[in-house]
Formats: sequence, C-alpha cells, structure tokens
Amino acid sequence: MAIPYGKQHITQEDIQVVIETLQSDFLTQGPKILEFEEAFAKYVGAKYAVAVANGTAALHLCALTLDVKEGQKVITTPITFAASANCIRYCGGDVIFADIDPKTYLLDINSVRDLLEAAPKGTYAGIIPVDFAGRPADLEAFRMLADEFGLWIIEDACHAPGGYFIDSKANKQLCGNGVFADLAIFSFHPVKHIASGEGGMITTNNEFLYRRLLQLRTHGIVKNDDAYQNSIEFAGGEDSYPQWYMEMQMLGFNYRITDFQAALGNSQLKRAEQGLERRKEIASIYSKAFATIPNIKGQSGDVDGHAYHLYVIEVPKRKELYDYLRANDVFAQIHYIPCHLMPYYRQLGWKEGDRPKAEKYYKQCISLPMYPTLTQDEQQIVIDLIAKFYAE
Ligand SMILES: *Cc1c(COP(=O)(O)O)cnc(C)c1O
Repeated sequence: MAIPYGKQHITQEDIQVVIETLQSDFLTQGPKILEFEEAFAKYVGAKYAVAVANGTAALHLCALTLDVKEGQKVITTPITFAASANCIRYCGGDVIFADIDPKTYLLDINSVRDLLEAAPKGTYAGIIPVDFAGRPADLEAFRMLADEFGLWIIEDACHAPGGYFIDSKANKQLCGNGVFADLAIFSFHPVKHIASGEGGMITTNNEFLYRRLLQLRTHGIVKNDDAYQNSIEFAGGEDSYPQWYMEMQMLGFNYRITDFQAALGNSQLKRAEQGLERRKEIASIYSKAFATIPNIKGQSGDVDGHAYHLYVIEVPKRKELYDYLRANDVFAQIHYIPCHLMPYYRQLGWKEGDRPKAEKYYKQCISLPMYPTLTQDEQQIVIDLIAKFYAE
C-alpha cells in the first residue's frame, strides 16, 4: 500500500458532526463558525480568531488589514509555500526574499537585518516569518527587530498549530498566540494538522485588526448602528436605522468558511493534541534511526516545541532516493522549491544565486512520511528503504 508524505484522518465522530451540521438550519454564517473560532483561539492562546475559506485567503486578509500598498516592501523566506509571499503581491506590494538559516531552514534573522539596514528607514512595511515544517520561528527576536524598524509581523503558522518556543523569560510561547506577531495564520488543508477540506484561520490579540478582518471577510460590510456613515434618513429610518440596513465601507471579499467545514475543523481540533504527540513520536523514531546513517542531516536546533508538520532531511543523491522510495510506493515530497525562483518571481527580477543557502537546501531536501496514522510498520518500511539505499 502506498505511503504518502502526509494524510488526513477522519473519524466517525468527524463524519457525525458534519452530518448534523448539514441537517441544521445553517450551512454557512451559522453558529459552528464562532464555536470553531473560540475553540481555536483558546488552543493557540490568542484573544481572537477569524475562520476563513483557506490559508491563502487568511494571508490575503492579513495583508489587506495591514493596509499593504503598491511600492511597499515585505520580507519573507523563499523556503515556503508560494502563498506566504503572494499575499503581498495581491495588494501590489513587493516581496523581498531573505535567505534561510541552513541549520533550522527558517528565515534567517541576520539576513533580514542586513536587508533592513541596507535600505532607508520606511522602505519595508513588514516581515512574514514561517514556522517551517512545524519548527517555531523565534518571534521574540523578530519582534525586537520589527520594532526597531517600525514593521508589522504576520506569522505564517500553517505548519505549527500546537507548536511553541521558549522565550527569553522562559515562557512557553505558542505559535499563533499573538504575543509577538500582529497576526498569525493557519490552514486546514488535508495535509495540515487539522483538516476541514479547505479552511483557514487568522489569530490576533489586536481588537482593531480583529474587527477589520471580520469586515473584510464579508465584502467590507458592517451591520452595526454605531458604525454607519450614511444618515438614518438616507437609510430610510425615522429615529433609528431600519433592520435591513447595512453598509459596505471597504472593498472586501467573500472569504467565509462554511458551517460544515467549521464543524469538521472543530471536531479535528479536539484530537489535535493527540495527533501532535504522535507526530513527535514519529520524529524521534526517524531521528534515532538516521543517527547511525552517515550523510543524513536533519533540521537541527532546539526542537521541544516542534509541531512536525513535516520531517525534513538533507541527503546526498536526493533525486535517486526520491525515485527509489517512489518505486517502492513511498511518496516522499520536496518542501519547497525556492519561491524566488518560481517563473513568476524570476519575471520580477529574481535569479539563481540570489539566495544561496535556500538554493543549496533545495538541492538536498526531502520530506518523509509524517502523519498521526502512519503505523510503526509503515515507518519501519521507510527507514529500512533509506538505510538500504545508502548501504548500497
Ligand atoms: C498550506 C500553506 C498555506 C496556504 O494554505 P491553503 O489553505 O492551502 O491556502 C500557506 N502557507 C503555508 C506555509 C502552507 O503550508
């Protein structure tokens, strides 16, 4: 049987809650969305959460909410899914890719600092660190840098619900808790920790940004007597606004999630901690097994709070290993092709050699099967194949 690199897990209980929601009065704009938002905010330790159609919509809403405009520059990592960068382009801003730290594979803060110091103040508007593979970025350090240069931070935490890092005061800082980042985003695509089919979430501790996000998620419409700009008279009321009245005050979108997706997401969230524990177990088994195979290099550093969306290694003969695994029904994957070398970004001026550490990493990286329902036997098959490949 084929072993993929990632896979969703749907239980009978998940199916039941979706059926119940389908039989309820609301397919969308109902109570399941707020339930999911509240439970998710609690899970990551943030004040507010806004559920949306997918992770890309979450990123776009963040960029809109932070008022990204033409001519503004935003820094992110090239080793991420394209959406982390594209959200800036949607708003007409420029994406500047910094290089990665070759040990952690995360956005290298020194590379970011170099860019900031080389430009006049005010050139850059924000930073989008990514908790790549589930390894939390040190957002405390990024916050200090961002404050120095007056920047906002969007944490792309798609890989890291439940992940955390330990800050300088020995506090556990959960990914997406909004303590250091202005906004954080998550995805509920089936390969991620929590699956709702399509779905996404934005978390924040900032009430102003939260209100704006809610408005932009639904066309920029407000339905609140205190916020209206047109007069009561225009609206058709006498001494108050009529019940039907609403106003579109900003150019927003329809980025809503449905109630049955929210119900599924919420049901999955209840098992998130369990899934996370299993991912950590799988990672530690891989790490032990590969410690004895020369030439295999892993994502290093403090990994206590790693959420292990991916288990990435760097290897020689990567293409041959990938093909060999595939021939044996193990479908590893590559994360990621450096974003700055995608034809779209090349066309904007990026070229090979611009970010050497990211490019070198891409030549050697491979993501091994990592999901809670991966069995011990299946994992052993993967390990044995890799050991055999390098013993030959
Ligand atoms: C999955 C993912 C996204 C986009 O999420 P979608 O729900 O697929 O739109 C963005 N950033 C990262 C790092 C991701 O892994």
